[in-house]
Amino acid sequence: MDINIAGGGLAGVEAAWALANKGFRVNLFEMKPDSFSEVHKDKNLAEIVCSNSFGNMSLTTASGVLKKEMEILDSLVVKTAYESKVEAGGALAVDRVMFSRLITEKITANKNINVVREKIEKLNDSDIWIVSCGPLCDRALVGYLQEIIGEEFLYFFDAIAPIVYAESVDFSKGFWASRYSNDTDYFNCILNEDDYDRFYEALMSAEKVEYKEFEKNYFEACLPIEEIAQRGKQTLLFGPLKPVGLEYNSKRPFAVVQLRKENKEGSLLGLVGFQTKLTYPEQKRVFRLIPALKNAEFAKLGSLHRNTFINSPKVLNGFLQMKNRKNIFFAGQITGVEGYMASAASGIYVGMNVALMLNGKDMLPLPKESMLGGLINYVSEKDGEFQPMSENFGFISVGKIRNKKEKRKKQAEIAINNIKQWRERYESSFG
Ligand SMILES: Cc1cc2nc3c(=O)[nH]c(=O)nc-3n(C[C@H](O)[C@H](O)[C@H](O)COP(=O)(O)OP(=O)(O)OC[C@H]3O[C@@H](n4cnc5c(N)ncnc54)[C@H](O)[C@@H]3O)c2cc1C
Repeated sequence: MDINIAGGGLAGVEAAWALANKGFRVNLFEMKPDSFSEVHKDKNLAEIVCSNSFGNMSLTTASGVLKKEMEILDSLVVKTAYESKVEAGGALAVDRVMFSRLITEKITANKNINVVREKIEKLNDSDIWIVSCGPLCDRALVGYLQEIIGEEFLYFFDAIAPIVYAESVDFSKGFWASRYSNDTDYFNCILNEDDYDRFYEALMSAEKVEYKEFEKNYFEACLPIEEIAQRGKQTLLFGPLKPVGLEYNSKRPFAVVQLRKENKEGSLLGLVGFQTKLTYPEQKRVFRLIPALKNAEFAKLGSLHRNTFINSPKVLNGFLQMKNRKNIFFAGQITGVEGYMASAASGIYVGMNVALMLNGKDMLPLPKESMLGGLINYVSEKDGEFQPMSENFGFISVGKIRNKKEKRKKQAEIAINNIKQWRERYESSFG
């Protein structure tokens, strides 16, 4: 029985590294340089396709805490990022060429890792597979995954609406109610006519991210909010901002923006129907014109991307292992985690658990109250509509702490301690 990894990107190299560190021999299949996706250009492994930043390093940010957790888990990506770091204020940015070259050198020098430059099109039953073919997974493998997963559970683009921290919403500027039933599942942010005019003007003039050529055909079914707005000033009032079916003080509001719970705790609220291609700074500026969101803090900003990902809550268990084909695991962006770091981190988790399984031990779920554990829990357990997610503080509850810095400090402390303890349990399983 071989251990095969399909895709030598950020998740694939981490999974290979974690397994190799425990003495397991793995085959790491990478289709480059014979085949390249629309955005990959370099023959090396772990290629950084866009921004060269791995996000903030401060432990008061979700991205900083995730990187710290990854360091505790011996991340190859984070270690190599520090070795190829370029100055970028508080962010961890890398010389992308040097980063990928160093990773490739370390992986190829590892006697337990056999790098095979070959495209994977099918997964046999007799081997263990970790599928880490990324958001632009090659077509033949996608076709095969559709067969084994079911077409309805594999998606080709994401349409992400922004998500805000509930604690930053002004709940005096709206009301809880559902449009078509008596339940109170949605928070309705009220806009009067003046609020709407201001919001509409700002939306129309806001700066957008250009579509890449290969993305253009994907988004017809799921229009960004600014494109709906472009069709006329009233269009939004019949679309995502419609007040139909809602009353406040026996009156129908002029317009509403609905917020829906994104996690069981209700600490994260998504803006319903607000998928967008506005730039990140413009999203903050424009969406804060909604009165209830005046001081909103965004756990995640909206985007539309070409992105291959599976409906993980339906298809995978908490070890990112297929529910109905136990020899197949998934790691990286294809599982619905989002971004370089979250993808790499999921690769570490899967690699470590496959090592446990091969060692005849029980696999270990991560504590949910951590960035990585929260992410894995989200992608494997999310109820209802599933869209990709990145690390955020909504995963770690600490109750009421008024001072935000203090709160983040406490959340970081809990997360880091949890991951340290998990690592100790992991090591003790190897005796
Ligand atoms: C256009 C674009 C811009 C992005 N910008 C950013 C950004 O600015 N910041 C950020 O954090 N994230 C960004 N991302 C997301 C980021 O690229 C991913 O989060 C991350 O690279 C995912 O890691 P991964 O290991 O899952 O996949 P990848 O890093 O993409 O690795 C997948 C690897 O698998 C190989 N492969 C694919 N199919 C096969 C096959 N059948 N057989 C063998 N090998 C195969 C590929 O060649 C590739 O090397 C962007 C993504 C895209 C598409």
